[in-house]
Amino acid sequence: MIKVAVTGAAGRMGGRIITLVTEAEGLQVAGAVEAPGNPKLGEDAGLVAGCGQLGVAITDSLEQALSGADVLIDFTWPEVTLANLGVCKKLGKTMVVGTTGLTPEQRAVVEDAAGTIPVVFAPNMSVGVNLCFKLLKDMAATLGEAFDVEIVELHHNKKKDSPSGTAVRMGEIVADALDRDYNKVANYHREGMCGERTKEEIGMQTVRGGDIIGEHTVYFVGMGERIELTHRAMSRDMFARGAVRAAGWLAGKEPGLYDMQDVLGLK
Ligand code: NAD
Repeated sequence: MIKVAVTGAAGRMGGRIITLVTEAEGLQVAGAVEAPGNPKLGEDAGLVAGCGQLGVAITDSLEQALSGADVLIDFTWPEVTLANLGVCKKLGKTMVVGTTGLTPEQRAVVEDAAGTIPVVFAPNMSVGVNLCFKLLKDMAATLGEAFDVEIVELHHNKKKDSPSGTAVRMGEIVADALDRDYNKVANYHREGMCGERTKEEIGMQTVRGGDIIGEHTVYFVGMGERIELTHRAMSRDMFARGAVRAAGWLAGKEPGLYDMQDVLGLK
């Protein structure tokens, strides 16, 4: 039995992850963590998640939650994730990181920790999105320089980071396939007399509103034809299901940085 601790236990993702761990074969919730001062501290994690009593109280001590756990699933905030990585590294626990919005410097800290413990780090844990990542690489390589690439993503009005980690990953995959440096060619802003579009740039636009779970479209626009690859999330469960699958997959893995392409065997 793989024992799982979950941070952000009272959050949108944390609750679904706790529920899906209880439904997964061979996995069990062993710890649940929330921020100091969270009103749900001390309450049963299963009751808070809406999947019935689990006998696991939500604590603000990660060390305590990890004492009986093999793996941590973390969908919180970047600075919290980095602190939690330090604890997992110290205790030798594996970790699934779903948190998005990490800066390049913060991502480097994740990479460094993966030198000591096995870590799955993926801005989007859905099977469908990860298949899109694979398709995008082929599309960009085949369509090449003749097509302009633009990415549009839509999310709910509570999302804190823009553009989404998934949109950035899509941009990086396209840039890599076209032998471009994403950080140099990403264009997040057009306003006023900003001039013609350059051939190399990858436009990145965000829409925020209501309860949109997440939509991403990559446009490849050529002369006389246009290809659009769209993924629409209809429920948060697709992310949570991927995270739970990653937690099971990590058991027995060597230290290293893995992504969902590894977990799903798409490489
Ligand atoms: P949320 O705000 O609902 O949940 C975050 C939770 O973390 C909150 O309950 C908060 O109290 C808790 N938290 C804060 N500090 C903590 C601490 N020190 N210890 C433990 N818990 C702490 O947000 P959400 O919608 O659940 O999203 C969380 C993150 O997951 C975001 O970065 C989001 O972009 C990302 N996300 C990733 C994927 C993916 O597939 N990788 C999918 C959806 C969301």
